[in-house]
Order: sequence, then C-alpha cells, then structure tokens
Amino acid sequence: MEITPKFIADGMLGSLARWLRLAGFDTEYFSGKDKYFLAYKARNEKRLVLTRDRKFFENNRTISVFIEAEDLRAQLKEVRNKLKLELVNEKLFTICSLCNLPLEEKKVEEVIGLVPEYVAKTQKHFSQCKKCGKIYWQGTHWERMLNFIKTINHED
Ligand SMILES: [Zn+2]
Repeated sequence: MEITPKFIADGMLGSLARWLRLAGFDTEYFSGKDKYFLAYKARNEKRLVLTRDRKFFENNRTISVFIEAEDLRAQLKEVRNKLKLELVNEKLFTICSLCNLPLEEKKVEEVIGLVPEYVAKTQKHFSQCKKCGKIYWQGTHWERMLNFIKTINHED
C-alpha cells in the first residue's frame, strides 16, 4: 500500500504549501527560525521537510527535500518529480488551503446565507473548514485551480 506523504514547508514556500493542501496533501507551514525544532517536528510527526535552505537539507537529508525552483509552477513540478507524486487524485480539495485541516462536506441548505446567492442556486457540492469557516465549492476558481494542477501534471 502506498503511503501518502505529509509535509512541512519551510519558510519561503508558503504558496507551495497552500497548493499542496489544495491537491490534498497534509502540509504544515513552518515560518520559525529554529531549524532544530523544524527537524524535531518533522521526525515527530513523520513529515517530509520541503526546504530552500541548502544547509538544512545537507544536515537532514533523510527527512527533507531540497526545492531549487523559485516559482510556484516549477516548485510543484519539482515536488512531483522528486517524490513521484500524482497531483490529481481523489483527495483534491479535501484540505483547507489556509488551515491544513480536513474539510467537512456540507449540503446546500447548510451554506445558505454563507455563500453568494447565485452560488447556492447553481452549485450542489460544498465543503467547509471547521476552523476558519471558509467554504469551498466547485466554481470557476476551483476549475482554474484544477486546470493549473492538471497542466503541471502533464509537463515534464
Ligand atoms: Zn480553514
């Protein structure tokens, strides 16, 4: 059985963290300075560190992946290539992009008044983050994100 990796994105990789969450990967974001704590947290929570800090990577090769690319698209490709990840899977849009917590499915009755009226009228599937309350639905923004991830998946 294949185990889905969990990540901690080191500083400067905040966008990458949000996109990995949207792709369904449990990804914490670490903005602290204490790299010993980062390594400890990674080991403790069995997370792989995604980092642009070469020194950290050299000292922690077994628990980290060095990200060379600077822009998001290239970073996502790098993660996919280095870890042989499938970015489009059944877990797409199951984790809050802000909080890294699992989303709960909601019925349209439950989100009336919380989403724009036209959205409540046209969409059927909603999910919500328990922590921040953000509601996700399969609108145009969703489609754009899905297409972005799909095109990355088809590039080398
Ligand atoms: Zn949230």
